[in-house]
Amino acid sequence: MIYVNEPLLNGNEKKYLCECIDTKWISSEGPFVKKLEEGLAAFTGRKYGVAVSNGSVALDIAIATLKLKPGSEVIMPAFTIISCASAILRAGCIPVLVDCHPDEWNMTPEGVKNAITKKTAAIMVVHIYGLPVDMDPILNIAKERNLKIIEDAAEQLGQTYKNRPCGKMGNLSTLSFYPNKHITTGEGGMILTDDHELAERSKALRNLCFGKKRFVHEELGWNGRMSNLQAAVGVAQLEKINNTLKRKRSIGGYYSEKLKTFQEFQIPFSKTDFAENIYWVFGVVLRSMETRDASWAIEKLKNRGIECRPFFLPMHQQPIFKKMGLFKSQRFPNAERIGKYGFYLPSGVALTKNQQRKVVNELINIVIGRE
Ligand SMILES: *Cc1c(COP(=O)(O)O)cnc(C)c1O
Repeated sequence: MIYVNEPLLNGNEKKYLCECIDTKWISSEGPFVKKLEEGLAAFTGRKYGVAVSNGSVALDIAIATLKLKPGSEVIMPAFTIISCASAILRAGCIPVLVDCHPDEWNMTPEGVKNAITKKTAAIMVVHIYGLPVDMDPILNIAKERNLKIIEDAAEQLGQTYKNRPCGKMGNLSTLSFYPNKHITTGEGGMILTDDHELAERSKALRNLCFGKKRFVHEELGWNGRMSNLQAAVGVAQLEKINNTLKRKRSIGGYYSEKLKTFQEFQIPFSKTDFAENIYWVFGVVLRSMETRDASWAIEKLKNRGIECRPFFLPMHQQPIFKKMGLFKSQRFPNAERIGKYGFYLPSGVALTKNQQRKVVNELINIVIGRE
């Protein structure tokens, strides 16, 4: 089987893990946590990093850190992971959806502008798959209207927007270290900011809001702490990130080259005015296939030993939100189309050229039927 993502743990991961065991520093109090926080803050040009247990909790804590007024609106993309919407809802706020660009798959500045109301308090920007959101117009609107920005950079650590690092552009930015992300800790995440007060508040929320006096709490937080074991792996991963990013771009470049001549596939732009694709994953959208949607292709590829993943199901089509009566009769045609016809190919850094060749051949065989 060619897996959709196989991570590489071939640096100092084992050495640092053994260090944790030898020193018995395994909890969040251990030294690797701080090392990872400082390393990632430096890598993204930030003042503060707050390591947490995963990227979803990073979003929960980031939103809670901002103390948005309950009932206020937070603009977010329709095409993203559920964690974005659930963080907004759990903070007592209302997610307001924006459709994605048909080719770049990110939320657009025009969409954001049109979604603003008197109740808007914040914008949650999410960089999807490989290209960053067009940030400048969104940052300008936010400044004009005094809106907060939460930047979900989980998929694009190492990417830049007009040479500015992703993870640096929100009041708070978040990362995930799930095994398919650019660095992994097994499970893990981080909040990044330049604001001392926000960093301190995130840290408190991460740690159950312990007061000055232990076991006395003025507010409810989470146990969102990262263990030293996880951070040890993360520190080793961060040492190799430039290689990882190079591999990602090479994998994406190969798929691009082999698939670009086929009308049947919509593939990602290799670059835009403000960035070169980092190919966190390589997405393919089937064009005018009608009943042959992504799940059809995924099933066929699976039978040939290739594991792919469907694109996100847009938020307004999620059963849970239908049950909750959210986003009723709203339509986001671009998100709906790519949600139905889009899937991504094996894109992990352990992928070999031979495996990639097989993926491309089988995909062409299946969709175009050259066999
Ligand atoms: C992976 C991801 C998350 C969630 O991260 P977890 O660590 O899996 O909880 C959040 N947002 C985006 C855009 C992601 O890709």
